[in-house]
Amino acid sequence: MDLFEHQAKELFAEYGVPVPRGSLARTPEEARVIVEGFAAAGAPRVVVKAQVKTGGRGKAGGVKVADGPAEAQARAQDILGMDIKGHTVHTVLVEEASDIAQEYYLSFLLDRAARTFVSICSVQGGMEIEEVAHSNPDAVAQIPIDPLAGVDAAKAAEIVAAGRLPEEARPGAATLAERLWAVFADEDATLVEVNPLILTVDGRVVALDGKVTLDDNAAYRQDHGRFADPTAADPLEARAKAKHLNYVKLEGEVGIIGNGAGLVMSTLDVVAQAGEAFGGIRPANFLDIGGGASAEVMADGLEIVLSDTSVRSVLVNVFGGITSCDSVANGIVSALGMLAERGERVTHPIVVRLDGNNAAEARRILTDAGLTVVEQVETMDDAARRAAQLAASAQRAAAPATGA
Ligand code: GDP
Ligand code: MN
Repeated sequence: MDLFEHQAKELFAEYGVPVPRGSLARTPEEARVIVEGFAAAGAPRVVVKAQVKTGGRGKAGGVKVADGPAEAQARAQDILGMDIKGHTVHTVLVEEASDIAQEYYLSFLLDRAARTFVSICSVQGGMEIEEVAHSNPDAVAQIPIDPLAGVDAAKAAEIVAAGRLPEEARPGAATLAERLWAVFADEDATLVEVNPLILTVDGRVVALDGKVTLDDNAAYRQDHGRFADPTAADPLEARAKAKHLNYVKLEGEVGIIGNGAGLVMSTLDVVAQAGEAFGGIRPANFLDIGGGASAEVMADGLEIVLSDTSVRSVLVNVFGGITSCDSVANGIVSALGMLAERGERVTHPIVVRLDGNNAAEARRILTDAGLTVVEQVETMDDAARRAAQLAASAQRAAAPATGA
């Protein structure tokens, strides 16, 4: 999970990483009220910053300095509702403006390729670090971090020296780096990035921007629920998650249900390839129902997949292993019964390919059940082609071609 800048800075502050004073506003009026508070405390100059989970907000016009409450309200008015790289701005962070002497770069991240944690530090901040690494590679230091030793005062001093930060910034930056590592390690992050890290005119080192990616695999031992963004979640994905289903919404027309992530991934590929012959039919989702495909899991899965209004056909692709095919077949039969009981009559064609343990018995069960929407196909390639074909004709029926 990626955090918004204001959330990243909340975490930073908890760990003693210096950040500018600020508050979040949802409306221009809220922005004005915040700045009235700052003005009363003798600091009317602020920065109004778009809160979207993408970089380059400054270049896109999403970061503006404002002098006093009225100007802040006007800037917030400009920025709220803006679209930045496909992200709509719903909130702005209103911060006391900083007098910047210099801008640096500092991050900790998990370098999967190198199989280690790394700190990146540079005296050239404020722009994209990839650009700096390209144009001036000597100005970007990469320091591996031993996960057991972590970052102590000595390591932090090594990092800021390697990044060639000037002497006057080093003590402050090193202290900040030590605390930033604590954020990274204790919060189970895979990235904490400060760009720019600034030296202020009065000699303080401050995190002016913050980007944090948390490791979702560690969510169970963290208290990160407070950072979840309900407005961003796909409603179908949210429903699937509530049912503990491993579901990812895609853009196509063939609903996919399979067991095992590897099988489902290859099913997506095969359907996408087969779909090319039918005008670009594509898989509508990833759904792995896992090992124990009970009738209830199958019913939940079918319900989610069929709730996707772009789905025109469904492909159930199961390889029986520990769970034998006959229990999956029984699962499909009872799932359709359950859905009928819930008042959700299934009308989309369901192509079923079952192979592996007890496949023959499974096919007999499905045949005997006489389900009109179910069509059995023996091989994965043929099943994918059939599902794509059914989706294509259903789509044509739904949207008849208009005469020119
Ligand atoms: P990004 O463009 O999404 O990375 O947003 P940043 O938070 O990094 O802001 C972009 C740029 O705006 C920074 O590199 C600064 O140059 C400038 N900026 C942000 N806050 C302040 C501030 O308080 N004072 C001044 N003078 N400039 C700021
Ligand atoms: Mn930035």
